[in-house]
Amino acid sequence: MHPEAFEAMGEYYEGCYANPTGAHRMAREARRATDDARDILAEALGARPGEIVFCGSGTEADNLAVFGAAAGSGAVVCSAVEHPAVLRPTERLDGRIVGVDGDGMADLEALAAALDGDVRLVSVMLANNETGVAWSLEEVAEVMARHAPQALLHTDAVQAFPWLDVAARAGRADLISVSAHKFGGPKGVGALVVRGGVGLQAQIVGGGQEAERRSGTPNVAGIVGMAAAAAITVARRAETTERVGRLRDRLADGLRTAIDGVVESGVRPASGTGVPVDRSAKVAGSCHLCFEGVESEALLFLAERGGVYASAASSCASGAENPSHVLAAMGYPRSLARGSLRLSLGAASTDADVHTALNVIPQAVTQLRRAVA
Ligand code: PLP
Repeated sequence: MHPEAFEAMGEYYEGCYANPTGAHRMAREARRATDDARDILAEALGARPGEIVFCGSGTEADNLAVFGAAAGSGAVVCSAVEHPAVLRPTERLDGRIVGVDGDGMADLEALAAALDGDVRLVSVMLANNETGVAWSLEEVAEVMARHAPQALLHTDAVQAFPWLDVAARAGRADLISVSAHKFGGPKGVGALVVRGGVGLQAQIVGGGQEAERRSGTPNVAGIVGMAAAAAITVARRAETTERVGRLRDRLADGLRTAIDGVVESGVRPASGTGVPVDRSAKVAGSCHLCFEGVESEALLFLAERGGVYASAASSCASGAENPSHVLAAMGYPRSLARGSLRLSLGAASTDADVHTALNVIPQAVTQLRRAVA
């Protein structure tokens, strides 16, 4: 967590521990804190304060977007590489799931073919949580304008927010999800932007908080922490992206050099000289590789013993038992997808971290390959 975000939260556990919907002085103070946080987050997301709905996670924001916007009317369309927080609700509504190309990019022809006058909602993520590949919402919105102009556009910006100017890139979206723990804020708090005029059926009903869009006593400390983290993220985003992007390149280049039989997802051959690959389609913190002849589960075990905490696919999936749906959608053979490794860098990542990973991972891969040879 950003220390400033952690610090900002303390006051709302110890000093001003009041329910912001109350009428007394301390409640008004808590309400002021959530209103200030709403202003900050709205600015960071290119929205108006009244368009922010605070909720309990990125998952809840995604569920609210899909179930809430589609309620009772029309079909939902999403991409095959969405996070389960969008995929499962879409499946539950018998929605349409659209394929992607081999780089994990939108297949705009397939999207166009899935659209018609019945579609109520299209949901595509701004950046993928496994590969880091970022999409242009402009292109998606253009296809929608031609084939389903009545449909709403939702984007899951949970992974994008630390790295990309979401306010600029999601300007065409009607609904935007974010989650605080992805940008140095606390876990268990997220938000959904619901643009003015977009009809949404609340999924959690009760006391009518968040302008009847999400009931329940707001997590004041979490909301304050999320806003503090958002402000820091936006203020430092350019510098962080530059610095972490360089670390990620050193890590990915180093692993590709040290190990044979590596496939890096979401990259293209570089046109310039001296640069092994073009990673411009990916967000800066994402290093995602597949190792031939290696099982992720065993690799993660050895990596952890060496002090590298990584994952295979999404942290909700169970690694090698269940190869990534994202890689499957990109056409990776199962044998290769079983050896995937997702190394995530963040604002706090250092040269020393990269150094450790460059020592530990090649040794682990060599050891595992030797064991099966
Ligand atoms: N969407 C994406 C792209 C994610 O990466 C995640 C979490 O990893 C979520 C949604 C879910 O967010 P949360 O962990 O806050 O429920």
